[in-house]
Amino acid sequence: MADSASSSSPAPTRVAFITGASRGIGKAIALRLARDGRHVVLAARSEGPLKDLAAQIIASGGKASIAVVDIADSKSLTDGITKAVAECGRLDILVNNAGITKDNLMLRMTDEDFDSVITTNLKSAFVACRVASREMMRGKFGRIVNIASTSGIIGNAGQANYAAAKAGLLGLTKTVAREFGSKGITANVVAPGYIETDMTAGLPAEIKDGILKMCAVRRLGVADDIAAAVAYVTSDEAGFLTGQTLIVDGGMTMA
Ligand code: NDP
Repeated sequence: MADSASSSSPAPTRVAFITGASRGIGKAIALRLARDGRHVVLAARSEGPLKDLAAQIIASGGKASIAVVDIADSKSLTDGITKAVAECGRLDILVNNAGITKDNLMLRMTDEDFDSVITTNLKSAFVACRVASREMMRGKFGRIVNIASTSGIIGNAGQANYAAAKAGLLGLTKTVAREFGSKGITANVVAPGYIETDMTAGLPAEIKDGILKMCAVRRLGVADDIAAAVAYVTSDEAGFLTGQTLIVDGGMTMA
C-alpha cells in the first residue's frame, strides 16, 4: 500500500481519504492529490467507478486504493477509515466531500428530507473527523478539508436542509481547528459556488445563465477549480492556515 518512510526519504507519502471520489468534485480532487504524490483512498458507495478511477491513477504511476462506504451510516464510514489506516499504515489528509441535495421549498420539505441531508452532509463529517483525528494525532500531522457551499454562507431558496448542513460544517471545522491545532492538525472549509457536475446538471438553463452573470470571472466553475484549492489547503506548506473558509465561486458572492 503506502510507502513507508525510510531514513533516506524525509517526506513520507501522505495518505488522503477522499469521500465522494467516484465522480464530480471528489474525483477531480482524487486525481489532483494523486498527481501531487499522495496515496489516495477513494471512498463512495459505488464500487465500479472507484475501481476504475484507482486503476487509472495506478496506471499513470500514482498510488490509490478504494473504500466502499455509505457516509450516512456511521459504522460504515468509521470502518472504512479504520480499514484504510490499517492498510496504508497512516492517515494524513481527510477530504469530506461527498454530499447530496434534496431540495424543496420550506413549506414542502419533509422531516425525512431535512434529516437525511443533515446526516449525509454534516453528521458524516463529524464522524469522519472523529476517527481520522485520532490517527492524525498519532502522526502529529493532519489536514482536514470539509467541502461546504456558498449556499451555507448566503442561504439559498429551496435548500433549507442543504444550507443548514453546509453552514454547520463551518462551525464543526472551526471547532476541529481549535481542538486539534496544537497536534499539528489543521481543518478548513472549501466552499464552492456553482460547479458543473452531475449534481448541477439538471438545473434549468435560465438559472445557470443567472449564476453566470453573477460570476465576476464570467464562467461557470469546473471540478478542477475546487481540486486546486484542496491541493493547497492539504499541502504540508499550509500549516498556518486553519479554521478558515475558502470560497471558490468565481466571485459570485464575495461575501
Ligand atoms: P456529485 O453528485 O457529482 O457526486 C457526489 C459524490 O458523493 C459521489 O461520488 C457519490 O458517490 C458520493 N456520495 C453521495 N452520497 C453518498 C453516501 N451516502 N455515501 C458515500 N458517498 C456518497 O456531487 P458534486 O461532485 O457536485 O459535489 C461534491 C461536493 O461538493 C458535495 O458535498 C456538494 O454539496 C459540494 N458542492 C457542489 C457544488 C456544485 O455546484 N456541484 C456547489 C457547492 C458545493 P456514490 O453515489 O457512488 O456513493
